[in-house]
Amino acid sequence: MILGDTCTRACGFCAVKTGRPTWFDDDEPRRVAEALASLDLEHVVITSVARDDLPDGGAGIFAETIRQVRARSAGMGVEVLIPDFNGTDAPLRTVMDARPDILNHNLETVERLQKPVRKRARYGRSLSVLERAKAYAVADGWTVHTKSSLMVGLGETRPELSQAFRDLRAVDCDILTIGQYLRPSLQHLELVRYYHPDEFAEMKAEALELGFRHVESGPLVRSSYHARDQVPGAELRRARRQATIDADGRIVPGGLLDQDALAG
Ligand code: SF4
Repeated sequence: MILGDTCTRACGFCAVKTGRPTWFDDDEPRRVAEALASLDLEHVVITSVARDDLPDGGAGIFAETIRQVRARSAGMGVEVLIPDFNGTDAPLRTVMDARPDILNHNLETVERLQKPVRKRARYGRSLSVLERAKAYAVADGWTVHTKSSLMVGLGETRPELSQAFRDLRAVDCDILTIGQYLRPSLQHLELVRYYHPDEFAEMKAEALELGFRHVESGPLVRSSYHARDQVPGAELRRARRQATIDADGRIVPGGLLDQDALAG
């Protein structure tokens, strides 16, 4: 999570500290990228608190972090989970110009419950973030995969969830995660009910039927659950990353060189 630990919003379900942020460090992208390179990850999800106090909402730091990660870890899948930037175009373009593999922005809940669940957000605005992100990529001639997440158990109805699935597909959202809301404390929104694993399976089937490329749905699913496997071409990327060059300059897929070396 970049851009500090203090969020300018106060969503009713979220345990992140809220208030007036003081953190801003334009060297953060370099340090994040170095840390990620040393961890040698296959995929990273970069997110932030909402920074409505910054003129660009933190978009410049997002973009520079993506670029620095790319420069140091070429094979790493890069997903960003971004705020809505108050619906403005320029910050979203800034992030998209850095070309993340996955652009994630969470709808969080059904339309009727937006206000109690995340009072500073708007259902239509969040859909628009996903729609515009994809449009920018298409206009620039590259492919981004968009992603969103829904919590269940906040009092939504099943038809309302189906409508949210359809609304996400209407803006060509590719990936959906669905998980059970769990109340962080008694000061947070009440948990209305737990869903049975069979219900999560049924929602997954419905969402896949609507055309999502990838759906994770289960009680403990969160936005970054199995995120590595949602990157298009993840297998290929992994194979490339593990590939090595042999003595004759040929590319050897991961593992084979070690076996050859052992055999030799
Ligand atoms: S904007 Fe994000 S980090 Fe901030 S309170 Fe809402 S969910 Fe939490």
